Amino acid sequence: MSNDNIKIISNPDEVQKISRKWKTEGLTIGLVPTMGYLHEGHQSLIHKSCAQNDRTIVSVFVNPIQFAPGEDLATYPRDLDADAALCASEGADILFHPQPSDMYGEYFSTHVEVDDITQVLCGKTRPTHFKGVTTVVSKLFNISKADRAYFGEKDAQQLAVIKRMVEDLNFDIEITGCPIVREADGLAKSSRNKYLNPEERKAALVLSRSLSIGKQLLDNGERNANVIRNSITQEIKKEQLAEIDYVSIVDSVTLKDVDEKITAPVLTAIAVKIGSTRLIDNFSYTV
Ligand code: AMP
Repeated sequence: MSNDNIKIISNPDEVQKISRKWKTEGLTIGLVPTMGYLHEGHQSLIHKSCAQNDRTIVSVFVNPIQFAPGEDLATYPRDLDADAALCASEGADILFHPQPSDMYGEYFSTHVEVDDITQVLCGKTRPTHFKGVTTVVSKLFNISKADRAYFGEKDAQQLAVIKRMVEDLNFDIEITGCPIVREADGLAKSSRNKYLNPEERKAALVLSRSLSIGKQLLDNGERNANVIRNSITQEIKKEQLAEIDYVSIVDSVTLKDVDEKITAPVLTAIAVKIGSTRLIDNFSYTV
């Protein structure tokens, strides 16, 4: 794969200058925000952006402000050459790869914060995470001047938070959610899967397996959220290497817990630690 046709740029002003020029030429711009170490999940987003827009910008930035102390900021996997090759193979135009100091200058003091839906699910154990995400994504929207941005349903809460922010703050951008891409055996693709040793990799299948059980119950007509949540929980507990962070069935829009009868579209989302690696997975269901 050749990287000849893709520009790797670290300076936000330089990207903004190019995106401004593209806009004056009447070209549409797609943005795919990532933390790099790209896999087929990211690739599906980039593919869609390249198909739907005249130009595509992929950002690769391990954003320090969305990590809390003690999380995996320092060890997060990185491989910029492979990322550039994948972006080029899909026809992306710019790989934006800033350093933290390019994004957060000495006097940086402005944040974007979404209330309520950021405090549930992953927000319970990662209370500052989404503030970091919405702040960096706002910056990326301004830098890229994108008409459309692409996010994976793998991070369903993130997608809901970004949609909320775009609506609340009148960002002039269309948000597209893309389906979860999985390994052949069902494990949702994730850069963090690299942390798993062979034994943990096997154990990690409990995430998709337990969710399948929940979905099967819904398909068979079960509508009691407690019954479904308990079945998923019991399946995860059978796996010795797994430690549950949460198993939740929430309203798809408000992300509020559904405890009794399911009557509206729901998101069934789980976070499970396999060894020291925290993994997430989910499915959406419309009754
Ligand atoms: P990350 O690099 O993990 O921050 O992810 C960047 C984007 O890729 C996010 O919008 C993710 O939801 C999306 N993504 C990550 N893994 C997958 C996957 N397995 N399927 C679909 N989208 C994904």
